[in-house]
Amino acid sequence: MRERKHLNGINSDTNSGSNNLSPSGSAPPGSEPFDSISSNPDFSVFSSLSQTEFDCSCGKKHRFEVDKIIIRDKALADLPELMHIQIQKSMKKAADNTCPKSEQQTAQDHEKKSAQESNSKPLFPFIQGKAIELTGSQLVYLICDDNTYQAAAQQALKILQQSDFNVELIRLSSGDKPIKPTPTMLYHILQGISQPGWLLACGSGTINDLVKFAASRTGLPSGVLATAPSMDGYTSGVASLVVEGVKQTTPTGPHNFILADPEILAAAPERMILAGVGDLLGKATSLLDWHLRRIIFDDYFCKTAEALIRKPLENLLADNFTRRLRQRDSAALKELTRGLLNSGLAMQLVGSSSPASGSEHHISHFLEMLGLREKIPMPLHGIKVGIGTYFTAGFYLRLLEEGLEILTADPITADSNLVQAFTGSWNSKETRQERIIQAYGSRQGPAIQNLQERWPRESSLSISLAQLKELKSKIAEFKPLLEKARQYLKRNKYFDLAEDISDEQLRQAVLYGFEIRQRFTITTLLYQLGWLEDWTDSLLAESPDS
Ligand SMILES: [Zn+2]
Ligand SMILES: [Zn+2]
Repeated sequence: MRERKHLNGINSDTNSGSNNLSPSGSAPPGSEPFDSISSNPDFSVFSSLSQTEFDCSCGKKHRFEVDKIIIRDKALADLPELMHIQIQKSMKKAADNTCPKSEQQTAQDHEKKSAQESNSKPLFPFIQGKAIELTGSQLVYLICDDNTYQAAAQQALKILQQSDFNVELIRLSSGDKPIKPTPTMLYHILQGISQPGWLLACGSGTINDLVKFAASRTGLPSGVLATAPSMDGYTSGVASLVVEGVKQTTPTGPHNFILADPEILAAAPERMILAGVGDLLGKATSLLDWHLRRIIFDDYFCKTAEALIRKPLENLLADNFTRRLRQRDSAALKELTRGLLNSGLAMQLVGSSSPASGSEHHISHFLEMLGLREKIPMPLHGIKVGIGTYFTAGFYLRLLEEGLEILTADPITADSNLVQAFTGSWNSKETRQERIIQAYGSRQGPAIQNLQERWPRESSLSISLAQLKELKSKIAEFKPLLEKARQYLKRNKYFDLAEDISDEQLRQAVLYGFEIRQRFTITTLLYQLGWLEDWTDSLLAESPDS
């Protein structure tokens, strides 16, 4: 209850019927803003999220970085009003900054503030310096590709022009192929920007990332009109680009606003919706991995961040949800989108990807790396995460049914037989290094570096009986989610969507993927216990599509 009380500080419009986007939007009496974020399936407009800080039970003071999120029927019609409000806010901010000070002083203050706020240097400091003042202009750069032009940008362009916005269309194209998040595409965006204005992304994964990157380096404000509930990056503060064949993730800060209209989302291709579900299903094991680290290493954990993700995940796996989603039911699409956006918000709250990315994502990242290295076509991120989840959820279920019995009989303490087993030669630092060199090839550098840093903690791992009991009850609590997630992945044939990945490549991703990040997960634990290979082969032997 303590959390809810503090979260009342967030202003939110909870009047589902009206079109109230007032910039000062205050919460109606008796409303529960936290509920509107975590459990209201029909409506989500949060005014000025970014203006509120709140104290959390985890001991931290949290703050949302995204200013406004709208997930609503006919939300596209709100776009001009939303843009006007954002512009007013920018102008107010600029006025507050300029009023009592000299121009030179303001510029210095602004520069200082920008440097503090951003981890990254803007490529165009002359625009950065002016951005806030000049967004009073009605200039919007609408960035799309051929598909999203048809899906939403064409309509958005018309609506904005009717409201007297000056819209410059930046339409990206790469022939018949889907566009990729490459420096070339970034160049096309930057080349289209001649003077300060708003950057409005119209798309999903790729365009969302490219525009976030462009916004962070130009210092221009940005928003996104979502075209598919396909991944959880809309609200995140990082962007991934493929540079010289390697995926690079860079801190960018999030968009100022996100707008999602179920009518647009409903027209997204089936595989994109399945990808979004896959990314959200992965949270069942990323959250458990986070609990695992809390229980074993006493790592930081935040219940508010967990609740933001877990509630929509539970709703997603409710009985009739799959059918409703297949029928492109508006409430189901909103729920899926809310779960994905909340994942990004949860990561923002705690300042790391811990709540939303664990062992299942490491498998996906490894596959991604293989795809780029060996030029194998890879399915969308969320499909790969879904496949990863099939294994990691299976691991947790087997740990609950079988592994924990072995462990409770012999907890991992300094004198236990288990610890003697996993500190044997097969689990030495040298052996792990050799495994990495073999599996990662030319991409071994970061994984080797991870090993150096993680080794002291992992090689001295101990788990008491009390910790094992806590782990057992936590996995038991997640059991229905784990089982339903695996059923969903089987029924919807996720493995068929990744037909270019061979069984051996998949096996490698499960066995070696955990080295890609330093984060300790179920896969790391199984490796240390010497169970990973056997358990992976058992799951591979089951026919996933049976
Ligand atoms: Zn993801
Ligand atoms: Zn917290």
